[in-house]
This record gives sequence, C-alpha cells and structure tokens, in this order.
Amino acid sequence: MNHRGEFSMIEEVFRPLAEVNHFSFGLSDDAAIMQLDSNQDLVVTSDAMADGIHFDSYTPAADVARKLLRSNLSDIAAMGGIPISYTLTTALPEHYRDTWIEEFAEGLKVDQKNFGVSLIGGDTISSRSLVLSMTLLGRVDSNQTLRRNGALAGDALYVSGTIGDAGIGLSITKNKPNNIDTASKKFFLDRLHKPSPRLELGQSLITLSSAAIDVSDGLIADLEHICAESKVAATVWLESVPISEAAKNFINGDSGANVARLSAGEDYELIFTAPDYSAENIALISKQLGVQITHIGSISEGRGVTVIDRDSEEVFLSSKGFSHY
Ligand code: ADP
Ligand code: MG
Repeated sequence: MNHRGEFSMIEEVFRPLAEVNHFSFGLSDDAAIMQLDSNQDLVVTSDAMADGIHFDSYTPAADVARKLLRSNLSDIAAMGGIPISYTLTTALPEHYRDTWIEEFAEGLKVDQKNFGVSLIGGDTISSRSLVLSMTLLGRVDSNQTLRRNGALAGDALYVSGTIGDAGIGLSITKNKPNNIDTASKKFFLDRLHKPSPRLELGQSLITLSSAAIDVSDGLIADLEHICAESKVAATVWLESVPISEAAKNFINGDSGANVARLSAGEDYELIFTAPDYSAENIALISKQLGVQITHIGSISEGRGVTVIDRDSEEVFLSSKGFSHY
C-alpha cells in the first residue's frame, strides 16, 4: 500500500481541523497569522528535525540547533514578519542528555543573539530517537503579510541569493568526495547547516511583492505552491537561476547537475513575484541590504511551473523537489 505524501496528509487529514479557523489560511502558507491588536498580527510557524532524516550523527549539535532556528526564521521571513520568541520540544534518547544537548543549547545561544529572539517554553520528553521541534512566533503590521496567493499574470519572478549550494552540501555529507578543496567544502556545509533567513528582505518586500515563499523543498517544488495558491503559471529561465562560484566549479559543466539544483532543497532563499513597476525598488533593496536578487522568470495565466533553456526549449526535471517524508 502506498503511504500518503506530506502534502496530501496535510490537505486530507489536518486541513479539515483548521478549516474553522481562518487564521490558518487552510494550512496553505508558510505560517499562520492571528490578530494581536488592531495594529499588529502574530505570525506562527513550526518546524521539526529528526536524527537520521534531517541530519546525521556527524552533524555538530550546535549546527543542528542553528538550522532548526534558521529554518523557522525563514518561514517568518517568507511572511514578511519580525521574529519574537520560540518554544522548543526535545524528544531525546538518554545518551544525548549531557554533552550533546549542551552543545545544542550553545548553538541556540549564538543565533538567539544574531536574530534577537529568545526561548519562552516547550517540553522535554524521553524518546528512542532524537526529534527536535520548534514553534517560532513573530509579528507583522496588520494586513501587511506576504502571502503565497497574490501572484498575477504579467508579474516578474525573482529569487534571492544563490540556488543549489545546500543541495551540494547535502551530497558532500553523503558521498564524502575527496576531490573538493577545504574552503569550498566549508562554504557548502555552511550553506547547508547555517542558511541565511532573509528576514530584512521579507519585511522590505511587503509593499513591493505580490507573492512569496521560502525555498525549503526546492525552487520548483516551492514555486509550485505559489502557482497553486495564486492560480497562475510560472516560467523559469534556467540560465538565469543564480549559482555561486563554488557551485559552478563543483558542477563543472555537468548540465544534469545544473538542472538538479532547481530541485534541491534547503537553500532558504526567498522566491517572490512582483509587478514590473516594482523592478527599480527591488534593485534598490538588493543594494541596500547587500542581498543578491535575480530576475529568473515570469508569471502567466495557467497552472504549474515550466523551466526553459536559452533556446526557449522546455527542460524536463526528473524530480521537482526534495522530500524528507
Ligand atoms: P514549510 O515548508 O513552509 O515549513 P510545510 O510544507 O511544512 O511548510 O507546511 C505547509 C503548511 O501546512 C504550513 O502552513 C504548516 O503550518 C501546515 N502543516 C504542516 N504539518 C502540519 C500538521 N501536522 N498540523 C497542522 N498543520 C500542518
Ligand atoms: Mg516555508
């Protein structure tokens, strides 16, 4: 028997539970929103990580902590929110309770400072395997939320940063290649373990962008969520999808690996859409924040994502996104 995938489980099992509560957006966005007062809304998001699935036993505990916090921060960024505080639930086998959990807390301490958030509660249970779950709370000015559902035909499509670095980092942890220099290896592993949640960018895009999502599952898979929620189609120009110098060297002209970047997850960059008249302001924000922003395609009527090469030929993808599930 086939088991349900992550998205059909959310849709079929959990969505009916959320339907009565319009703050959840029917579980179809990066986070939920609740009204705090007449000026401010509360943004709520949860992410969990399990040993053997989201990280391996070689991953430093501090990096696991920072990745957990940063992946949650990325969802707040995708909603245009400002993070405030978080709760943490740890399900721990006995032998993780001493050094490992202390190093984990050290990692959180560093990033609490970096991002101005603090712990406000949680739960601690024993378990046969290690699972860590975090719920992050943030705030946003009322009705100023970035959503997945506002893209319109004619909008331009953008992405922040570079795409595919975390995926290469993951392949390095799995395949342990020995033909990679130390600096590049560090770059890819940093991108995998310590992504940069685009909080300032998300906040700056509120008035400029029509729809946004963060890249957790893969550029194409996450863009498909924008298309589904906005009821539009997207075309991605393969040659325009930004690549880091390190990734260019690592891929070394392998066109399959270049396309696979579009399906690799965990870059935690923002994909967003905006009308043409926002282009100048978007360029300005990119400069002000020092964050690379690249125009990678366009939105049109229809449904789904198409990738085209420099000859406007459609590029076929063997997999659209990474699923841990
Ligand atoms: P992201 O990759 O942005 O974290 P997910 O794909 O994990 O988003 O989740 C999509 C939406 O479904 C989110 O709004 C999330 O809160 C909701 N969701 C996921 N799992 C559950 C669950 N077990 N119960 C309730 N809502 C869920
Ligand atoms: Mg998200």
